[in-house]
Amino acid sequence: MEKNNIGKISEDLKNGVKMIAMIAPSFVVDFSYPSILNRLDDLGFDKSVELTFGAKMINREYHKKLKKAKGLVISSPCPGIVSTIKTRYPQYVKNLILVDSPLVATAKICKKTYPTHKTCFISPCDFKKIECEACKYVDYVIDYEQLKEMFRKRKIGKDNKCVLFDRFYNDYTKVYPLSGGLAKTAHIKGLIKEDEFLDIDGIKNVMKFLDNPDPKIKFLDVLFCNGGCIGGPHTNQKLSIKQKREKVMKYLEKSKDEDIPEDRKGLIVKAKGLKFSGDVWWVKKGSKGLIEKK
Ligand code: SF4
Repeated sequence: MEKNNIGKISEDLKNGVKMIAMIAPSFVVDFSYPSILNRLDDLGFDKSVELTFGAKMINREYHKKLKKAKGLVISSPCPGIVSTIKTRYPQYVKNLILVDSPLVATAKICKKTYPTHKTCFISPCDFKKIECEACKYVDYVIDYEQLKEMFRKRKIGKDNKCVLFDRFYNDYTKVYPLSGGLAKTAHIKGLIKEDEFLDIDGIKNVMKFLDNPDPKIKFLDVLFCNGGCIGGPHTNQKLSIKQKREKVMKYLEKSKDEDIPEDRKGLIVKAKGLKFSGDVWWVKKGSKGLIEKK
């Protein structure tokens, strides 16, 4: 994969190319916060942002679409799910919601705010690398293990300095990497009855549902990995899903006490003029990997 090129990323950083690290919110499973921000800074990243503001923006799109939806709607932020549906359950492609993932939304916002910066996504899985290859707003991608390796090589350890993400803070969507995180934060109460919504994690469980769907379900919030993105293959495999969940919840709690300056918050006005639905990367002609059957 061209964008998953540590050599090129390191060279760019060394040469002072301005780059934004876009971090998946599951990062707390593998890295301490806020130490990771200093470490990214030491690597040479000019800015660090998390995907939570992008998640907030796509929640708004989900809300609008679910309001008008007739029949089953399937969430689409997980490229593992999109891939499985495209290759094994093409009859459900029409049910996938045509909304950007938080990654694509965040990358669009970053490119609008910092048009000359390069963007680098820090990922818990390989499916996201495929998504990055097909997304023109993302320049590079590395996974958590590769980032650890970069830190090791440069001998960049943990520290206790307290810094903040540079931009686009949004606390409540920090639960996105957990199973059902999207549905819990998209304000769907009132749009869908409790027994019309289902969240499923783990591809085996998802396939079980798709093989034998419950016609009552109108919104299916699904993630490929067990537990959600916290179970991604490049996350720390020594921790249980329960331990990983606790880390995310602790991070969410901690963030509620943080004093975030106004200019660093994820305010809707910062995404003004951007579109987050309709024209999704995975239905575009020529997008690699996810559409064609292998
Ligand atoms: S659920 Fe797994 S495959 Fe899907 S985006 Fe998260 S880490 Fe990647």
